[in-house]
Amino acid sequence: MIELPDVERMIDAFAGYATGKTVSAVLIDNEESVDIDPELTEEKIQGHAIDSVERHGRFVVVRFRSGANLVFHMGNDGRIFLESQTTPPDEDSRIRLQFAAGRELRFAAPADEGEIHLVDGEDFSGLGTFERLGLDPLSEEFTSAVFVKLASAKPRTSLKGVLMNQEIVAGIGNEYADEICFQAGYRPDLKVKDMTVEQLERVHTYLRRVLRRATLHWQAAHADPGWLINRRAPGSDCPRCSSSLKSMSVSGRKTYLCPRCQRVA
Ligand SMILES: [Zn+2]
Repeated sequence: MIELPDVERMIDAFAGYATGKTVSAVLIDNEESVDIDPELTEEKIQGHAIDSVERHGRFVVVRFRSGANLVFHMGNDGRIFLESQTTPPDEDSRIRLQFAAGRELRFAAPADEGEIHLVDGEDFSGLGTFERLGLDPLSEEFTSAVFVKLASAKPRTSLKGVLMNQEIVAGIGNEYADEICFQAGYRPDLKVKDMTVEQLERVHTYLRRVLRRATLHWQAAHADPGWLINRRAPGSDCPRCSSSLKSMSVSGRKTYLCPRCQRVA
């Protein structure tokens, strides 16, 4: 499943190239899966330069100097990447934005996943999931006090459920939620009402630490022997204490934890 650090990596790989470049042609490979007005595309995308690329949770917003925005939702397995125009698109290809130099920005996602919308201006109110999205966990606004307040409003929810609730925090999915719980030392199935403010603050600290490291040093994080994310397999041992990891369902998702290192409260 695509999570925030994965989206950040994808953006890093194309934003530097695409920013400031003019889109010479827009090719749509799957008409049904794109919410794009053809007239508006011709008027505000084709022949216009990309102004900037932003991430919000698992959304990517490609802003054009014309004032229009292409909004991509990655879904569980969406990809956004640069490719040569001579490479044939694969079956998941949805849309391609071509540049004069022979490369193109592609968005691909399996059927029933991912979304693309064209928004003229700054009114994103038509995009329900985007509008309801919580704060980006790496933004300055996402302070410890804000997290404690948002989490405390869901007392009966599990810690993992809060971390994965996109209306509270945008961009955290199954694997990083487990990693945050592991690094902070709390069980993912712990109910928020059974946690103190200090414990929630500690979760906030590790949430930022885990996501920042995975974003800035993805490869190192994914090779770190101290990270749970690298042990997500049946029969694995805890990277800290070598006890057998436990797997269980929390918030309907397959969850890994160390019963010894992760405390009940
Ligand atoms: Zn352990």
